[in-house]
Amino acid sequence: MQTFTFALRNQASMSEERSLNFLEEIIEEHLKEGKYEHIHTRFPPEPNGYLHIGHASSICLNFGLAKRYNGKCNLRFDDTNPVTEETEYVESIKNDIKWLGFQWDGEYYASDYFETLYGFAVDLIKKGLAYVDDSSAEEIAAMKGNTMEPGKNSPYRDRSIEENLKLFEEMRAGKYKDGEKTLRAKIDMSHPNLLLRDPLMYRIKHAHHHRTGDKWCIYPMYDFAHGESDSIEHITHSICTLEFIHHRPLYNWFIEKLGIYPSQQYEFARRNMTYTVMSKRKLLQLVNEGHVDGWDDPRMPTVSGMRRRGYTAKAIRQFSDTVGIAKRENMVDVGLLEFCVREDLNKKANRMMAVLDPIKLVITNYPEGQTDELDLENNPEDENGGTRKVPFSNELWIEREDFMENPPKKFFRLGPGLMVRLKGAYIVKCEDFKKDAEGNVTEVHCTYIPESRSGHDTSGINVKGTIHWVSVPHAKTAEVRLYDRLFKVEDPSSEEGDFKSYINENSKHILPAIYIEPALATAQTGDHFQFLRKGYFCVDTDSTPEHLVFNRTVGLKDTWAKEAKKQ
Ligand code: ATP
Ligand code: MG
Repeated sequence: MQTFTFALRNQASMSEERSLNFLEEIIEEHLKEGKYEHIHTRFPPEPNGYLHIGHASSICLNFGLAKRYNGKCNLRFDDTNPVTEETEYVESIKNDIKWLGFQWDGEYYASDYFETLYGFAVDLIKKGLAYVDDSSAEEIAAMKGNTMEPGKNSPYRDRSIEENLKLFEEMRAGKYKDGEKTLRAKIDMSHPNLLLRDPLMYRIKHAHHHRTGDKWCIYPMYDFAHGESDSIEHITHSICTLEFIHHRPLYNWFIEKLGIYPSQQYEFARRNMTYTVMSKRKLLQLVNEGHVDGWDDPRMPTVSGMRRRGYTAKAIRQFSDTVGIAKRENMVDVGLLEFCVREDLNKKANRMMAVLDPIKLVITNYPEGQTDELDLENNPEDENGGTRKVPFSNELWIEREDFMENPPKKFFRLGPGLMVRLKGAYIVKCEDFKKDAEGNVTEVHCTYIPESRSGHDTSGINVKGTIHWVSVPHAKTAEVRLYDRLFKVEDPSSEEGDFKSYINENSKHILPAIYIEPALATAQTGDHFQFLRKGYFCVDTDSTPEHLVFNRTVGLKDTWAKEAKKQ
């Protein structure tokens, strides 16, 4: 499979007008020739899990096309499988779509069509195009044939219409056990497309449905329900992923034989992304087996996980638009999604100071007990971003990595005799440092240059480095959660063995008590910040006013790209 990595120069042109994708070309043609007055798309999730970034792409596509061409887009729950579906998923799906910035025109459920679909099935029976089969699943499979050999007709294929009608009614009435009978379309057991060798239309399942309860014990198969639901809603362009391409003739067959509204199916390649898995079944395993902390774990490729991690809806939409759609399977570099997230947060997130791995810096010539209130700009990318007061004192927390006892030549931070600017404050010079018994540096002693205050600097001294800091007596503490990729390999699903054996065991790293500037104390769940030099962070849902919790959304630079280059 081809992996798309996007060079920065391509990314720079992201917001420029792009050319039409193949679906837009088709739609423009249809509108031009008057085939449709308005287009009508739908997003048809099965409520058996939470939405992921692949679904988000499909949402952006379907809702995006409707918006672009002044059409409509329905939300339809494809809830024809009672066993795996739950109301919890319905609610989360609706919530995620709204959060992504879209509003559906109609909200429908395939289960609302059960009666109509039953009527369609009866119609096909009456036309001699469907029959009740007593064969077991194994027998049906055995008679199917394969690509080289034709299948065999079922011994029940030539039942009379009357008998079929009676048996189908009895199936509905609950006279038979699960698997005892099925309803099949009567097409052609030697058709080169195996899906047209008398496909199943209905199976018996005595199961409780999340909406219809125990009203039904027969449920339509996807192939029978999907196109018919599209048709009921007068969907013009039914867009699905590539694996359904061979289902298209069947989609058309049902519609044609029933003589109902001719919805049409179009396929595009599903969205795959590096370092993750993208099937609800696999994501469910990760949740159920405790590899992650739920569907909204910030490492999950789910919409809820990405939201919790601090990804913005705009960034996800931008990602979808940038990647566009393809006719062939491909793999998109997760780095592109992260790039879109950084682009958006760069404009939105206020800059703040937080020290993740602290050591103390003491300014020996600054009066003890004195506090200065410095004005720091909130966001240089936003003219209306304003400023905030940041307290400064003689004791500051700085990052351990910003001091080196024996610095190399081009180390522009602190070390014996070196000077650095404290962000928004003064230039300091390192005069001395202290170590504990194990040889760890515990304190750095500096003098500051009073004339070097940021914005009023008359010192004439030029320093190359600027470091962030937090005043010790004013600092608040917070928990920080740092995340890395959930998998160690680009495409865990295509590797040998169980995809879970490629889980990155070190994908979550908790720092229980970092120091943050006091302005962050009132941060609310979902707020985004850039911690200077440390990346973008957001307030996690676990956060309380007494115990703030931040997630690192994404670093400031693509560290994986750097690693890859080194190798
Ligand atoms: P999964 O394999 O993850 O369970 P699914 O296709 O079974 O996905 P559905 O709920 O049936 O999930 O999907 C709803 C819609 O989202 C469908 O139209 C489907 O084609 C689309 N979709 C699902 N996964 C992707 C993906 N990876 N990329 C693009 N579209 C997707
Ligand atoms: Mg599906």
